[in-house]
Amino acid sequence: MCGIVGYVGKRPAIDILLKGLKRLEYRGYDSAGVAFFSRGKLEVRKSQGKLENVERLMDGSSELFADAHCGIGHTRWATHGKPTTQNAHPHRAGHVVIVHNGIIENYQEIKAELISRGHKPESETDSELFGFLVLEAMEKGQDLVTAVRTSFAHLEGACSVVVMSEREPGKVVGVRNGSPMAAAFDPQGGAILASDAQPILEYTKEVIFLENGDVVVGTEKGLAFFDLKTGAPLDRVGEILDWSVDKIDKGGFPHFMLKEIHEQPAALVDTLNGIMDRVKTNPFPLAAQPGADLLRTAKEITFVACGTSWHAALLGKYWIERFARIPVNVELASEFRYRDPVLAPGALVIGMSQSGETADTLAVIRDVKKRGFKTLGLTNVRGSTLSREADAIFYTSAGPEIGVAATKTFTTQMLAVLLWAGYLGIEHKAPRTSPAGTPNAKPISFEELFHEIVKLPHQIKECLDDPQGMITAVRSAAKQLQNIKGFFFIGRGFSYPIALEGALKLKEIAYVHAEGYAAGELKHGPIAMIDQDMAVVVLAPQDSWRDKTVSNLEEVKARGAKIVAIGGTHDQNLKNLSDFWIPLPAQKDESLLPFLMTAAVQMLSYELALLKGTDVDKPRNLAKSVTVE
Ligand code: GLU
Repeated sequence: MCGIVGYVGKRPAIDILLKGLKRLEYRGYDSAGVAFFSRGKLEVRKSQGKLENVERLMDGSSELFADAHCGIGHTRWATHGKPTTQNAHPHRAGHVVIVHNGIIENYQEIKAELISRGHKPESETDSELFGFLVLEAMEKGQDLVTAVRTSFAHLEGACSVVVMSEREPGKVVGVRNGSPMAAAFDPQGGAILASDAQPILEYTKEVIFLENGDVVVGTEKGLAFFDLKTGAPLDRVGEILDWSVDKIDKGGFPHFMLKEIHEQPAALVDTLNGIMDRVKTNPFPLAAQPGADLLRTAKEITFVACGTSWHAALLGKYWIERFARIPVNVELASEFRYRDPVLAPGALVIGMSQSGETADTLAVIRDVKKRGFKTLGLTNVRGSTLSREADAIFYTSAGPEIGVAATKTFTTQMLAVLLWAGYLGIEHKAPRTSPAGTPNAKPISFEELFHEIVKLPHQIKECLDDPQGMITAVRSAAKQLQNIKGFFFIGRGFSYPIALEGALKLKEIAYVHAEGYAAGELKHGPIAMIDQDMAVVVLAPQDSWRDKTVSNLEEVKARGAKIVAIGGTHDQNLKNLSDFWIPLPAQKDESLLPFLMTAAVQMLSYELALLKGTDVDKPRNLAKSVTVE
């Protein structure tokens, strides 16, 4: 996910900015840039693509940069406007320059007001507008810090910014209100700010993590903190980070699984970049990959997969049917291969395997190829057997996953199949229909869907950073339910595959008995199991199925089960019905909710595993890649 670095002090600023941005590269980005003072003037260098492009812009101008001791840098994951050089950060507005992480939700209103007051924003971003607000406030006589504070009050949405102005050179002002920010004194004199501790650790181990609503001011003398709303000075104490090599491998997390859960936003960014070309047109076309042809010409799709991949495939069925109106089957590879199955003429068989080595899935791919069907693979591993044997391949870009329980490889598979669904919808000019059960709901257009997908990594990050308390709620539920006899996970529609995945995760890493069920199926048998020693995790976000799922909740509640409800932040009624309440932020389209629910169920199983004391990263009896049948 997008990254920020800011520096002021005695060291060469550009070195620190570029090195720092390199350390934030793991978060995923599509353009980058730096701004710095040189000979008292503000300079900006930015480019679409990788940081190397920005480095190249510096070649041969070493004198200009030699005396730069104050600057800000950014890696951008575009949410508003294409990933082009013009939209890359930093953005300049007169004597002000800013970098921004996150989303300004009311940017359209702000833009209209700024234009009516004669300003001329040059980019398509929401971010740039903040610079103009600061500029206006400073023109009215406010100093930089006050101008940043008063301008921030106009913004809706969770975001963080770092700002400089030519009127007050040698000062970097940051605000955290959403995306995390860390700051540190430079022992050689000065201050460094960054999206996380990684860019800082080279210079000092003492790092201050800002709270939401903190303003930080860095100067050559060091750091000062203020309250965003009142401007009152704040005391913030640093933490000494004693990161061993092992911890650096784990990025400071106690387990690979937790690290990988937190890497999901970046993994989604990279996967999105690998499958779509966001620079070209709008709505974004799939990159010209051979697999796109196979998808487009398929009369029917059959997914074959095992385990967690099978859950992602099931979501693929729900999404492709909804968006593209193509018939889709989902098969367990181990069953399909020995069943003598029938495929419709023109059917496309898609093998999904994170490792690309899953024996059963590979066997199906080989078999149906022999029978003359076209095959497509989706895997996270380049060069894997699946990638070599399927007629065409798509890759997820989750990066290495060390924890045995799949996390980021699952969400990136989900993203890939959702992108396919949207792509096929556009290709087939499928009518956008209202979801069943909500005939009056206005379906979103494909263009809107893609816009929302692009924001998704931000939103998952937001959930995991926990300003709205999702993770805190998960932790508290886990603590109080650690001795419960067993769990059911129930959901309908898009939540059903996540119910299956939630139960599987819990079994895999916490060794707790758990079952995932379609909420409507509970009364056909399993409800006999329900009593006060059972917990039911109810996935009932604000979607077409919410009311039906809540009725099923009532049935289990009446039989004494402990209810863990995962639902819309403002769903007071659901909250009142539950013993444990896990709030999910609203989404413009219900197809995006499974991603956020996944983060919640992953964290629930992780927390329970910690309480049970299991070997989270290497659960007993399991292998990462199942190469035997
Ligand atoms: N919404 C901003 C943009 O699209 C910031 C994205 C980011 O956090 O990198 O430029």
